[in-house]
Amino acid sequence: MRLHLESRREAYDAIVIGAGVGGLTAAALLTRLGYRVLVVERHDRPGGYLHAFSRRGVTFDCAVHSVGGCSGDGPFHRRALGVLVERLGLAAQVRFLPLDPIARLRFPDLELEIRQGMPSLLQELSRAFPRARAGLGDFFRLAEQLADEVSRMACGLAGDYELFARYRHATLAEAARERLGDERALAVVGGLWPYLGLPPGRLSFVYWSLMFTGYVSHGAGYCRGSFQCLADALASVVEEGGGEMLYRMGVRTITLKGDAVTGVMTDNGQRIQAPVVISGGDLLQTFLHLLPSGQVPSRYLTRLERMQPSLSVFVTYAVVSREALEACGHETFCFPHYDHERLYQDARAGQPRWLSLTVPTHTDPGLAAEAVHGVMLTTLAGNDGPVSWRERKEGFKERLLDQARRWFPGLEEGVLFSEAGTPRTMERYTLNHQGAAYGWAAKPRQIGPGRPGARTPLKGLYLAGHWSAPGGGVYGAALSGIEAAGAVAGISSQEALWRQIKERGSASPPATPAPP
Ligand SMILES: Cc1cc2nc3c(=O)[nH]c(=O)nc-3n(C[C@H](O)[C@H](O)[C@H](O)COP(=O)(O)OP(=O)(O)OC[C@H]3O[C@@H](n4cnc5c(N)ncnc54)[C@H](O)[C@@H]3O)c2cc1C
Repeated sequence: MRLHLESRREAYDAIVIGAGVGGLTAAALLTRLGYRVLVVERHDRPGGYLHAFSRRGVTFDCAVHSVGGCSGDGPFHRRALGVLVERLGLAAQVRFLPLDPIARLRFPDLELEIRQGMPSLLQELSRAFPRARAGLGDFFRLAEQLADEVSRMACGLAGDYELFARYRHATLAEAARERLGDERALAVVGGLWPYLGLPPGRLSFVYWSLMFTGYVSHGAGYCRGSFQCLADALASVVEEGGGEMLYRMGVRTITLKGDAVTGVMTDNGQRIQAPVVISGGDLLQTFLHLLPSGQVPSRYLTRLERMQPSLSVFVTYAVVSREALEACGHETFCFPHYDHERLYQDARAGQPRWLSLTVPTHTDPGLAAEAVHGVMLTTLAGNDGPVSWRERKEGFKERLLDQARRWFPGLEEGVLFSEAGTPRTMERYTLNHQGAAYGWAAKPRQIGPGRPGARTPLKGLYLAGHWSAPGGGVYGAALSGIEAAGAVAGISSQEALWRQIKERGSASPPATPAPP
């Protein structure tokens, strides 16, 4: 173990705690705005849940399967990931391979594809539910308009935000029932709910609309070479811009003078000064453990303690012979019935009844040797059972593999290697509370303005990542990083932020960093 890791400087313009996508986005943007930034990350590489690893010659993403809003054209407020890559000049390192179909949904008596482009999707669903055709069209139009409205709002663009006012407290099921009138159609339309971790009856309609239309209309993609490439590219912006990535080092304390931050102290006792600290890690950790007690206003703390974290995830990573999964797509969700609420309750109780099978090597064959696929079997899981995950891990993994074999009989003989990541693994690698996959649960009252924003009650302390607004997922966490960078730099709208980044170009950093 190396005990002498230290940052090169004693003082920076800004320190970012954690190299998840939210923290990295903020760090890269601030670097391009002329700040000298230090990112402190416990792990040995950037990414948090974006990180990838190798087994038996196959590159596996630890978590992420796909993202939305990564297309190369369209309005900037709907494709933040595409714009981020483009404006930071990262297109050579980060290429989003388009996914179409985005995913397949399998139920015992029905199978269909979620296609890119609303017209194709509508056609596919209308074939399965001819009587719901008009309702489906109406519903998707509403979701598009709502997502456009909230994206404009998040970017500081003008609008009356009438739909947001009407639907901000609605669940996906409530909004869909008004228009579809067919419970099976509703279950199918809501079939991508695991991407946000809550079933349609609990999931924010606003946030679902943002995610769903982001995938269907504004580019669903897989990052060529794994999502690690996105993290590496953002980290390279920091390093090439005169900042520093400090790995294998945790932040132990955020230091304060009065109610203003003065920097951080790392796990090995180094004190590093900065007038700005952005926490990209778990917020309960940030406010309960990294800050001296008594310094955070009790109202703010009480609000955090009342919020509900999202569930975690159990993943089986498997190396599978190619012929065992010849006709698979990128991702298939397999549901034993249409009652998503019951599936969610079972997941909470530690009973995996549904799974998604993701085959990134189908989309990017370069991730593995020719003869094999790298496969992820994923299901949601809680982290608070009476028995430790160490004891449950192998049994749970086998149950997931058994289920996968029932849906994909070729797997009977084809699994050459498997390893599991439990909720505890997710927590160990990222310090997300109980391995939460998406920060706070995406209930209507816990997304957008319902989540803590980038600014905090302490001067100089900002937040980025999936525990802050607008919400979970790579897209949401990247948006939070954009918001945090704008807040630190005093730039009032996303449009102005992109303009400034563009004007500064990708040239080397200014000799004198702009004052924070
Ligand atoms: C299994 C799984 C599958 C998923 N699939 C998808 C998907 O397909 N699409 C999608 O959009 N989203 C998906 N998500 C959700 C998405 O990955 C997350 O919402 C998002 O990546 C979180 O980013 P973040 O910026 O909040 O940081 P995180 O990824 O949570 O990373 C936080 C980082 O901070 C570091 N850190 C924390 N505390 C400290 C400290 N004190 N000192 C130093 N470093 C610290 C951690 O080590 C970590 O690297 C998935 C999540 C999981 C778990």
